[in-house]
Amino acid sequence: MTSRTRWIVVGGGSAGCVVAARLSEDPFNDVVLIEAGADHGPGPVPDRGGAFLEDQLRTAPDLMVVRRPGEEPQPYLQGFGLGGSSLIHGCIATPDPGQYEIDHLIPLEPATRLGSLGSAVMDADPRARPVLLTRAGGQRITAADAYLRPVLHRPNLFVVTGSPVVQLGLRGWRAERAITADGIEYQADRFVVCAGAIGTPTLLLRSRIDTPGIGEGLHDHPACTIALELEPGTDVVAPTISVVIDRNGSQILPLNHLNLAPGHGAIMAGQLAVTSAGRVSLPDHDGPPLVELHQLTTAADIAGLTDVVLDALRVIELDAVREVVRSAYLDADGTPVSAIADDADLVRDWAVGHVTGFHHLTSSCPEGVVADQFGRVLGYDNLMICDASLFPRSPTRNPYIPVIQLAERLTSQWRVHGA
Ligand SMILES: Cc1cc2nc3c(=O)[nH]c(=O)nc-3n(C[C@H](O)[C@H](O)[C@H](O)COP(=O)(O)OP(=O)(O)OC[C@H]3O[C@@H](n4cnc5c(N)ncnc54)[C@H](O)[C@@H]3O)c2cc1C
Repeated sequence: MTSRTRWIVVGGGSAGCVVAARLSEDPFNDVVLIEAGADHGPGPVPDRGGAFLEDQLRTAPDLMVVRRPGEEPQPYLQGFGLGGSSLIHGCIATPDPGQYEIDHLIPLEPATRLGSLGSAVMDADPRARPVLLTRAGGQRITAADAYLRPVLHRPNLFVVTGSPVVQLGLRGWRAERAITADGIEYQADRFVVCAGAIGTPTLLLRSRIDTPGIGEGLHDHPACTIALELEPGTDVVAPTISVVIDRNGSQILPLNHLNLAPGHGAIMAGQLAVTSAGRVSLPDHDGPPLVELHQLTTAADIAGLTDVVLDALRVIELDAVREVVRSAYLDADGTPVSAIADDADLVRDWAVGHVTGFHHLTSSCPEGVVADQFGRVLGYDNLMICDASLFPRSPTRNPYIPVIQLAERLTSQWRVHGA
């Protein structure tokens, strides 16, 4: 007789929804998915890129990061609830360059309505193309919508929401139980931590997992934003991001509108091939994690970001774009881009001083350092990681689809090889 295996999946985010759905396909598995945030329910969530700012319920509470060494911590967005960051992300998918060719269930469709700025960039720059969006019929489809909701009826799948796991209980080199904030203990044979690039190292450190390298290697894609005052009559129905210029290792994204500033759009310029690395640590065992992104700490990253910002400034000057842009600003004081545009050194200094990011956190529990190629935490018998923290390096593309594909790959390997 085949015995049953009980699995705990910690975190019902992008990867966690795939893991719970795939594991529960096997009727001999019992799967309990524990998510810290709420189930926000099925159905459309506004997919205009700025919408997440209005939607605090779907963002992790009180999350702070230090962007550059010595800087004060500042708030940071991550998804919170069933679907994780796919509840709030920009829905942009970059075409698969080959290394992650794995089927998945996330629908992809090209933006059809381009908006005034998107159309202008398409007309002006032959490199521009409509973005592929993770949606169907114009509506955002989260990982929970695509993977979890269709299988919630399974008798061997149990989903707990609003319940952060605060610690894993260990016996020697085995995890035995997941303990939630309300004191409930869930026992299992196998544990998969899918709590994201901050949540996963935080939980492992809090559980006193002593594998070296946990939290080290955190990456984000650094980016700068140039605000644009648009000519009246801009198309506010189009998705915020409808067009992309993919460069080798970087990306330019025109934003058709900004929710908080009617009549405005922006151009974001971001570096995807990054070498700077930060860390997640736990200065106080019971306190919040210290998240140090340490962006632009290498000359290569500074040069790369400067180059893509210079390119974005050139795009703003193209004739078709000038027709829809009334003025372009560097900061909230309204400093015009002309203050730096012709001087690469000034552009570099501005980029370093105003760097933000694409919210693409990865690599804080890298495969090869913290876990093996099956996501198994080194030194532990029944503990796996499956989320963006596992990437050995930051993908040089928008990371959401690679995260989904990682979860598809690992769950299929666990089926074949055992976990
Ligand atoms: C604002 C924003 C915009 C983005 N835009 C894009 C984009 O356009 N294209 C793209 O490709 N990528 C984008 N990304 C990145 C992409 O969404 C992420 O890389 C991906 O979703 C990460 O998946 P994950 O499973 O690692 O983590 P998440 O999807 O973040 O899931 C982690 C889950 O774990 C839960 N959790 C955390 N700690 C605990 C705990 N202790 N107990 C229980 N549950 C816990 C969280 O609540 C969350 O639901 C964006 C991200 C953000 C935040």
